[in-house]
Amino acid sequence: MSRTLVLLGTAGYHPSDVRQTSCLMIPELGIVLDAGTGFYRTREFLQTSTLDIFLSHVHLDHVIGLTYLFNVVDRRDMQRVAVHGEAAKLAAIEKHMLDTTLFPVPLPCQWLPLTGPVAIGGGGTLRTFPLKHPGGSLGMRLDFPDGSLAYITDTTAAKSADYVHEIRGVDLLIHECNFADGYEDWAEKTGHSCLTPVCEVARAAEAKRLVLVHHNPVADQPRRAPELVLDLQHARSIFPAVSMGNDRDQFTF
Ligand SMILES: [Zn+2]
Ligand SMILES: [Zn+2]
Repeated sequence: MSRTLVLLGTAGYHPSDVRQTSCLMIPELGIVLDAGTGFYRTREFLQTSTLDIFLSHVHLDHVIGLTYLFNVVDRRDMQRVAVHGEAAKLAAIEKHMLDTTLFPVPLPCQWLPLTGPVAIGGGGTLRTFPLKHPGGSLGMRLDFPDGSLAYITDTTAAKSADYVHEIRGVDLLIHECNFADGYEDWAEKTGHSCLTPVCEVARAAEAKRLVLVHHNPVADQPRRAPELVLDLQHARSIFPAVSMGNDRDQFTF
């Protein structure tokens, strides 16, 4: 039985008129990957009494949406709401973002440090692996008996990178692409990716399909910054099964 992945937020850094920041959801399993500003939309798609939120890392554009949790689970009888991530990073959220000077009350969730692969329903397993990024990030791979998904965000793509073998043969690869080609220096400095290396990663890993997310919000204003708009024609010359991910897009895998 296949599953649906909904893109609830596809911007990096800050929201734009057309994109919220990073958040993905598999509604039938109650799984959310990252909780950027797009996390408020989880309320609309929630269809389970459990909600498991897995964090790649805790830069604000990936976690600020956790503070919307009261409205997301509003009046529902939830059996479990859990936030999964690296122990030190969960502690940083509680210490800093949820200090009462910044947010008034504890969130209605439990904090579960990742210690290894996690069984996730639908017969699936979620595994994480480290990505190079200032402060570190985690790549994720979700394997089900009849399909697989990988989510790679906040790292500098390179076909020689260690994570490539972790995503080998994946059905659906969701990969950040914060920069157009020509911004390699910025990509290296900020720990993000340019278009060509992302497509080369998908090809090297023999992914079936590539969807680009974590877009630079300024690229949604092409008159202001035409050089930031991704050249999809070029991308397809490297990896034909590539597409832009946009908010509310849905994919079956
Ligand atoms: Zn980010
Ligand atoms: Zn980051």
